[in-house]
Amino acid sequence: MFRTEALGARTEELIRVGRFFFERGWVPATAGNFSARLDAHHVVLTASGRHKGELDAEGFLVVTPEGQVLPPGGKPSAETALHLLLYRREPQLGAVLHTHSRPATLLSRLSPQGVVLEGYEVQKALPGVDSHTARVEVPVFPNDQDIPRLAARVEDFLRGHPATCGYLIEGHGLYTWGRTVAEARRHVEAFEFLFECELDLRRLTR
Ligand SMILES: [Zn+2]
Repeated sequence: MFRTEALGARTEELIRVGRFFFERGWVPATAGNFSARLDAHHVVLTASGRHKGELDAEGFLVVTPEGQVLPPGGKPSAETALHLLLYRREPQLGAVLHTHSRPATLLSRLSPQGVVLEGYEVQKALPGVDSHTARVEVPVFPNDQDIPRLAARVEDFLRGHPATCGYLIEGHGLYTWGRTVAEARRHVEAFEFLFECELDLRRLTR
């Protein structure tokens, strides 16, 4: 069984992430979901329908990477499968964060073929990017209420593009991850900043 200290610590981090993201408008209504690894066999994940700006210790569930809910009967977020596929493929993965921000929603609709980020200093906050001249390709998947089907599509893409550090779902939002909650949060901040820049740039240079 997982250590309760780990559960308390990760839950606390995710509660803080929820407040921070809500204040910035990245998880409106009850949108978004967050998870963090407790150990090799357990992941803590936000429960379905909880407001992410007002999370407390009751707003989480523990699941196995295979999707079994502990204790049984709890209702995890609808998009659980999109989190768990990432934990299964990467043993070092510590957290997955999903936002529904306005920039991510709009940009994914404007660029359903994928978003390319290039020329921004802030892109160096993303893993494996060491220069503003690097070309960061963010895939955009069509939105789908059939989550297992969407998860299969994402998993298939990541197999062919293992360096991907985040993706968009069209008209929906961003998924990104990291080795720790803090690292995943930094990736969200970088992506959200870059998406805003990209939207403004398109507006201003049209
Ligand atoms: Zn979502």
